[in-house]
Amino acid sequence: MKLIVIGGVAAGMSAASKLKRIDQNAEITVYEKGEYVSYGACGLPYYVSGENDDHTKMIARTKQQFEQKGISVNIFHEVIKVAPERKQIMVRNVNTGQMFLDHYDKLLVATGTSAIVPPFDGLELDNIHILKTMEDGLALKEIAHQPHIKNVVIVGGGYIGMELAEAMHGLGKDVRIIEQAEKILLPFDREITDIAMEHLQENNVDVHLNERVESFNGYQSVQQVITSKGTYEADLVILSIGVRPATKFLDGTGIQLAANGAIKIDREMRTNIEDIYAAGDCAEVYHFVKQENAYLPLGTNANKCGRIAGENIAGAHRKYIGTLGSAAVKIIDLELARTGLSEAEAKDLSIDYKVEFVKAANHPGYYPGQTPLWIKLICESRTRRIIGAQAIGQSGAVLRIDMFAIAIQNQMPADELGMTDLCYAPPFAGVWDAVHIASNAIK
Ligand code: FAD
Repeated sequence: MKLIVIGGVAAGMSAASKLKRIDQNAEITVYEKGEYVSYGACGLPYYVSGENDDHTKMIARTKQQFEQKGISVNIFHEVIKVAPERKQIMVRNVNTGQMFLDHYDKLLVATGTSAIVPPFDGLELDNIHILKTMEDGLALKEIAHQPHIKNVVIVGGGYIGMELAEAMHGLGKDVRIIEQAEKILLPFDREITDIAMEHLQENNVDVHLNERVESFNGYQSVQQVITSKGTYEADLVILSIGVRPATKFLDGTGIQLAANGAIKIDREMRTNIEDIYAAGDCAEVYHFVKQENAYLPLGTNANKCGRIAGENIAGAHRKYIGTLGSAAVKIIDLELARTGLSEAEAKDLSIDYKVEFVKAANHPGYYPGQTPLWIKLICESRTRRIIGAQAIGQSGAVLRIDMFAIAIQNQMPADELGMTDLCYAPPFAGVWDAVHIASNAIK
């Protein structure tokens, strides 16, 4: 059996490794259009900031290590066409331009996303960057560490925009974020983002909401960002506007795509076409609470779905239990985390829900280092099952949200979590932990 994997990072290499572990005899060929395989793009902001100075630490396994395991990895090779009726793909060697055909018994599409870059005037100027791939990270770090780069404008206030704001703030830059929506971090509700906004302002990170970037001005390098509301000096612009599934090359194959271009798959990672699977950011993912597919391009899902794809390609029928959209982000001194539905999502789905927002603490005040911890909890009114939670604080927010994720997946009512026997000792938590306090407060 020959598997071809298109895309060699999280989902693609998880699937290839899993299949090889199950079936030593499987022939596996990976095509990756970039130079790097199997790396943690999530580490890029911390490489750019200088907290990690060795980009190879982000690589989980090299091409050579995969090849020692019997997986053939072709870097700088882009798949430009898929012909399902002949089980063939057309590949282009990115360096030489040479094209050739290859044949598969089973195919996994794991091509991830491309960064959205609108056709702004002035985009050709130097010092306008994105942060999507390892190559982007290497280039951005080089420019960001130059002392003459003072004013940094970040376009987009999502997860990556926030991580870049922290990185640039840490490098001593004057940082401005331009966000066209009415709030930053759309997956979070306003109670949480308001606290994050205050923290950004206290740290002199300027955040402009309801403002659209229109063009860039400059001579050779960018010097100004022109928006719907003003003109700002910029030595460096980073676009973090969002991503779209990298699936354009599948046009005409008959593989079903959602409106945003994400591949439609079932819970076993199968597309509508026999022997073609998809996983990771290029595809939708089953949502545990919504009980339908959603689009949530996260490393969490890509790794798990890739592994499941590998198992199923080997002949299993494993289903993904479903994502909760669990995600965390650090903004300077604050941790933010979320899982399940936000209140906005619960409203959109017309769920009859209850909500509570509490201010608790990471641990008791008589132990040094107490800091506030805010939790927003959402539960279904009739069953009192927890369906969503968000937290923000200097310490312990992510840990608490992981507990709520387990509660949601086990369909626990808030009252049960409110009496769960969690660890207690003053350096770590109160006898009534913030999780208990929020769960018992929701009425
Ligand atoms: P990708 O990692 O995008 O890999 C797809 C690969 O396919 C790419 O290397 C691409 O070159 C290749 N490819 C595309 N088209 C073709 C083609 N036609 N032929 C051959 N090769 C092709 N997620 C989290 O959960 N937590 C985080 O903290 C987090 N932080 C992040 C920070 C940054 C800066 C970035 C960029 C992402 C972050 N993510 C995070 C998201 C996470 O990195 C992705 O969800 C994950 O990498 C998706 O894996 P993937 O394998 O589906 O796609």
